[in-house]
Amino acid sequence: MVTGCVDLHQSLKSADSSSVPIPPPLPSKPNGHHRRHGNDVAPGLKNSSVSTATRDMWDRLFNDAYKADVVIYTDNGNIIYAHSNIIGSASTVIKGMLKQAERHGKWHTISIRGVPHDAVRVFIRFLYSSCYEKEEVNQFIMHLLLLSHAYVVPQLKRLCEWHLEHGLLNTENVIDVFQLALLCDFPRLGLISHRMIMKHFKELYATEAWVAMKKSHPFLEKEIRESMIIEENTRKERIRKRNEERIYSQLYEAMEALVHICRDGCKTIGPHDKDFKPNHATCHYEACKGLESLIRHFAACKFRVPGGCVQCKRMWQLLELHSRVCADSDQCRVPLCRNLKGKMEKQSKKDEVRWKLLVKNVLGSKKIGGSPFFLPVTCC
Ligand SMILES: [Zn+2]
Ligand SMILES: [Zn+2]
Ligand SMILES: [Zn+2]
Repeated sequence: MVTGCVDLHQSLKSADSSSVPIPPPLPSKPNGHHRRHGNDVAPGLKNSSVSTATRDMWDRLFNDAYKADVVIYTDNGNIIYAHSNIIGSASTVIKGMLKQAERHGKWHTISIRGVPHDAVRVFIRFLYSSCYEKEEVNQFIMHLLLLSHAYVVPQLKRLCEWHLEHGLLNTENVIDVFQLALLCDFPRLGLISHRMIMKHFKELYATEAWVAMKKSHPFLEKEIRESMIIEENTRKERIRKRNEERIYSQLYEAMEALVHICRDGCKTIGPHDKDFKPNHATCHYEACKGLESLIRHFAACKFRVPGGCVQCKRMWQLLELHSRVCADSDQCRVPLCRNLKGKMEKQSKKDEVRWKLLVKNVLGSKKIGGSPFFLPVTCC
């Protein structure tokens, strides 16, 4: 920390004297396959240069309570011994408690109650050596989260957050973690647990923890329900939009295929007005397969009028759409292209608006490029 401050100060000073801007730091080198997501080691353990002997020594000091001068009373009449200068330096809140603590000779007495005795032991040990057993963290994660907040121990806060994010957060504790995160100012944890609640909403809704939250924080419960509704609507809207885009894009492809069929003839559909040479290019328009039955029907159907059968109606719509997107009806070989252009002028305003919107969406579905046979995309 101190070194960081001095370095920054010096680089600012040297930058001032030479007026050369400070270059941005080089990106850190990826460390081969050891570096997975850059966040796979619990905080406080990265690049640790503290020897195990030192850690063991601090652990021993806590366990043996050599020359301890604090008695910590915990639930059920249990006691933990500690050293005032160590736990006071590790937590300013404890320092304040020690100042006001009763003294019996050399002994200060303080109490940490409301959490299990063993959780307090894990907490105090962490203040000494930053050491902990994984199983203890698993067992007391919620208590440690509370203690780290109440006694202002940021490194333990980060550690609890990390362990929750990397496996300890589950559908059984997520509602409690969410509330604690909001009450105890863990913004990241709040976000992660909120996301998990959204994901498992059906499973969590009306569980015991949910009912308890509804009782203790009714506004919070209401907010989650409301955000669930918003998320559900957004999801539905996204699906609707995606489906719509797919339809526009399919229509665009059908338009391309129609030009190809009428201009080149298509091997999939068979000769239009051409004799295919053996080396005639194989058709690569997916949409031809879909258009094939429609065109065959249209050619043979006895109703073949705009108000006729469903398939003919569809064919008429495709022909009209083509005529509206066609860039040059004089050169175009798609049947009725020019005739249908004339029909458009007689259409009602309402129909006209609907067609224009459809044309815009179909042409716009081709994000890059577009076809030389179609009009450019316009905004209307
Ligand atoms: Zn084709
Ligand atoms: Zn028909
Ligand atoms: Zn045309």
